[in-house]
Amino acid sequence: MRNSASKFLFSVLSLALLVSVNCDGWHYLDAPGGPDSWGGFCAEGTQQSPIDIRSSEAVKADLGGLSFANYHLDLKGGKVLNNGHSIVVSPAESVVDVPFMSGAGLKGKYSFAQLHLHWGSDSTKGSEHLMDGKAYPLELHLVHYNSKYSDIGTAVDKEDGLAVLGIFFHLSSKDNPHLQPILNSVSDILLPLTDTTLSKSLTLKSLLPEDTKSFYRYFGSLTTPGCYESVTWTVFEKSIPVSQSQLSKLRTLIDTLSNKMADNFRPTLNLNRRFVIKSKPTKKQEGMNPMMMMMAMMMNGSTDVNGMMPLMMMMMEQGGSNNMMLPLIMMMGNNGFPPQPQNPSNQQQ
Ligand SMILES: [Zn+2]
Repeated sequence: MRNSASKFLFSVLSLALLVSVNCDGWHYLDAPGGPDSWGGFCAEGTQQSPIDIRSSEAVKADLGGLSFANYHLDLKGGKVLNNGHSIVVSPAESVVDVPFMSGAGLKGKYSFAQLHLHWGSDSTKGSEHLMDGKAYPLELHLVHYNSKYSDIGTAVDKEDGLAVLGIFFHLSSKDNPHLQPILNSVSDILLPLTDTTLSKSLTLKSLLPEDTKSFYRYFGSLTTPGCYESVTWTVFEKSIPVSQSQLSKLRTLIDTLSNKMADNFRPTLNLNRRFVIKSKPTKKQEGMNPMMMMMAMMMNGSTDVNGMMPLMMMMMEQGGSNNMMLPLIMMMGNNGFPPQPQNPSNQQQ
């Protein structure tokens, strides 16, 4: 009897685990529950992520460099979680000096909340963003929230709520030692909704490319349901290395559907009427003057006042690299930044 009671308890617990693992009900497969059936903003938004970044169509500008604070601090003791969709590292709750960033057109400080990875089942794919149509085998996201909000949960659906850094990895014959602290945790969290403590030293600084001054910037969304259009994206131009065996380690994780975790990237979405800015330190503007480029794009109908506003505002904040902008913005009578979301419920503060 005791045995049957414990069997019953085991069944209930197994069922509970199964239900909880599948409770969010979404995945990356081409099947019900996959990206094509994600609802809400995922289906209806017009500023969605990821995108295919077309370098030749990006507007060249110099937004200045990002300033990183506490990026050298050790995240050892933080939490490493298999959330069923990715591997997620977040700082220990006791951490006082949370890393944060500012500058490069960001309004205010954005505090680090977590990092996670997107990778492929083979190394021809894996990144969420594409660069001129090309995928990288791995993409790292460093998720930050605007410190004017009390926590990431409050910030997640606000239009200026999140700032995410995207870092591409290219295949290398050598391991990237800076990834090892994360990869060492993999075997402890193979199953979804399991976590462990980061036992090796890890700094955010070690995961940034050497050149952080060259990057692509655009306004977009979370790449997982509910796809809130609250993300200021910064995707660095330069990639960092990862080895085949390191990617293989990631592919041993198990996802919510009990499959090997891989291809956990959302397919790219249309840019629609948005700009991508290519920011690079330049003494002299290269190529077409951004002002002229925006005017040309408005003339040929590929953008409108709302579409060009974020770029204009950012450039003005960087010291007004074109002093014609202020009169132009005033003439257009629009000081919205960034463009207003379509869903009124998203405008609550
Ligand atoms: Zn991500």
